[in-house]
Amino acid sequence: MRACAGCRKRDENENFIRFVEFEGRPVPDVARRAPGRGYNVCPTFDCIKQFVKRQFKGKIDPKEIYNQTLNALKEYFLHLLSLSHKTGVTVVGQDNIRELPPEKEGTLILAEDLSSKTKERLKRKGKFTVVEDLFTSEEIGNALRKETRAGAVFVEKVGLGRKLHSVAEKINSLLASRPKG
Ligand SMILES: [Zn+2]
Repeated sequence: MRACAGCRKRDENENFIRFVEFEGRPVPDVARRAPGRGYNVCPTFDCIKQFVKRQFKGKIDPKEIYNQTLNALKEYFLHLLSLSHKTGVTVVGQDNIRELPPEKEGTLILAEDLSSKTKERLKRKGKFTVVEDLFTSEEIGNALRKETRAGAVFVEKVGLGRKLHSVAEKINSLLASRPKG
């Protein structure tokens, strides 16, 4: 158990975003692998703001760190999608996703260029963690090493898919706490 460097709440390591300090700035270490002293922070804008204020004495804009963290998580997410796909825990395409048993746990990725009708229909299929409108079907297709676009992918919550699921939850939590303006 560790404490958040923003709100001091205690939680498991994997539920926090890790930051390291580099040249006087906080840098998100989304894979939790960078050496050196790390800070654990809840995946919310408020906690990033408190952490930055406390550790960097108001010299850093927390919104900048928020955006940087979100981008790093999105990049890491695509990387994990690519690796998960190679281990065979993905289900690609609307028709295949519709065939999934409803109790299946995992992450449903829906491209921003998919119609809202299609998105609603796929979301209703089960209790998935949904990552929506963050990537184009081209970006998702590239992560799957496909020549074609992929508008909908499901990643089962096993093996690397578990890690991807945890990143998805952090992204959604950050988006839900997005700073105004
Ligand atoms: Zn916190």
